[in-house]
Amino acid sequence: MKKLKIDKDKCIGCGGCEFNCPEVFEINISSGKAEVKKDVNPADYQEAVDRAISECPTKAISYEE
Ligand code: SF4
Repeated sequence: MKKLKIDKDKCIGCGGCEFNCPEVFEINISSGKAEVKKDVNPADYQEAVDRAISECPTKAISYEE
């Protein structure tokens, strides 16, 4: 299973990823940065995840190798 990671230094907390795929991404209210929800398989939401990755304004989302 591919894992997603969010570069917290790049994330500006715009909420775009959560908007595109709320099943996988959420903004952590205390840090103001996006996080990948636990126990979710991104492959189940492939299209929305790909949209979130390509629309992230700072390119903070990527797949872990
Ligand atoms: S779209 Fe990118 S910059 Fe915006 S909250 Fe998500 S990871 Fe952060």
